Amino acid sequence: MKIPNSDARVHVLDQNSDVWTVIRDIASRAHQEDAFYVMNIGEIINKYDQWTSKLPRVTPHYAVKCNDSLAVLETLNALGANFDCASKGEINKVLELGVEPERIIFANPAKPSSHVRFAASVGVQTMTFDSENELHKIKNLYPDAKMVIRIRCDAAEVQCQLGNKFGCDPVAEAPGLLRVARSLDLDVVGVSFHVGSGCREPPVFRRAIAAAKDVFEFAKTLGYEFSLLDIGGGYPGGRGTTIDEIAEIVNSALDAHFPDESVSVIAEPGRFFVCSAYTLVCNIHSIRNVIRTNEETGTTGTHRMYYINDGVYGSFNCILYDHQVVVPQPLEERSGAKYYESSIWGPTCDGLDQVIESAVLPDMKIGDWIVFEDMGAYTLPVASPFNGFPIPTVHIVIEENMRLIVDDMFDLTDGHFEMLRIPDNLKNENDTPYKLPTFPIQVGDSILDY
Ligand code: PLP
Repeated sequence: MKIPNSDARVHVLDQNSDVWTVIRDIASRAHQEDAFYVMNIGEIINKYDQWTSKLPRVTPHYAVKCNDSLAVLETLNALGANFDCASKGEINKVLELGVEPERIIFANPAKPSSHVRFAASVGVQTMTFDSENELHKIKNLYPDAKMVIRIRCDAAEVQCQLGNKFGCDPVAEAPGLLRVARSLDLDVVGVSFHVGSGCREPPVFRRAIAAAKDVFEFAKTLGYEFSLLDIGGGYPGGRGTTIDEIAEIVNSALDAHFPDESVSVIAEPGRFFVCSAYTLVCNIHSIRNVIRTNEETGTTGTHRMYYINDGVYGSFNCILYDHQVVVPQPLEERSGAKYYESSIWGPTCDGLDQVIESAVLPDMKIGDWIVFEDMGAYTLPVASPFNGFPIPTVHIVIEENMRLIVDDMFDLTDGHFEMLRIPDNLKNENDTPYKLPTFPIQVGDSILDY
């Protein structure tokens, strides 16, 4: 399987190299000018390990919409994650990896009919709803579906609100919808919610789980015996964030409201798994100095406009759609450099194409590189080649001490990944895939060759 937009190989980092070494190496190649990503698979493996140790009762269904790169899907599939799909296209993509339909939740409460028919034809049974019309649609198209009612419970502070679009009120609307479902003889199996993406108010999970429990109780009065709780997405994934507080709250709320382990608990994390795995590197192709007057102080000075080769129509669409705050880091810090009040712009001819409105940055030249970390979530799947600027290539890397996990994980003969220089004698057939390895690191045989 060819991985689009990537060189389809995984590069093993030795003990003395890291993502930044690779970035410097690629950036210093002769004629290298295009923007590129370095994607560290080890970050995803680490995140999966964190998830299973901190939220042992919650099975992750990775939200494919967040980053549908095959490298991500293959990695998470190999680790044992399940999937949350929003459409026929996403379901198809995940099924093509060999994922069984029971491991997919069709978590879009408003589904086009043809997508429901497709789900029925491939046996993806579990799907969410939050309206009466959806219930009638499903009754007509897929009466055997296993329905999950999505309730609304919004975090006070989020990166992206979702409750404005989806989720019925658990008190005012859920009982009526469940009565309709009962009258249609539909199989409702559980409750889902999504507190909002990039949740900055962990206690919302306590409220949402309590509200879900009330819906479970009401459903009993109609003769339903729910067996599924889906606690959605919202878990932060960038550097400097953790899911510790959310995990503590979720675990204690589950103990309080769902002590019976016969209820399966799942989640739909997206950015948590992929945000920190991707680092984007952009090249400065033009610079303009303009004279600006600061409106507050009245002082006049030079403002520097840097034009780079990826923008809001490409990877930085996350600024507009995902409300992401991106942080520019010049690849080479020059000691003694002069600093300027600066802005950073994308390559297209649109005035909207602004990456950074204002930052104090060191003096940089045409041809210099700017690095943006935490660019794995809601970037590549939305990027377009508007104005003819290409979507950056992805270079995939993994640290030396993780590579045997990958070796165990992927069927290399199938051509999913072409791993470089994996010595057969280091294979460890019995290693649990996502656990950190216990085998010795083979110094000297690792490579930087991309
Ligand atoms: N589930 C659903 C239904 C969503 O709409 C989203 C994001 O929009 C997610 C999961 C993933 O959310 P996050 O990336 O915040 O974990």
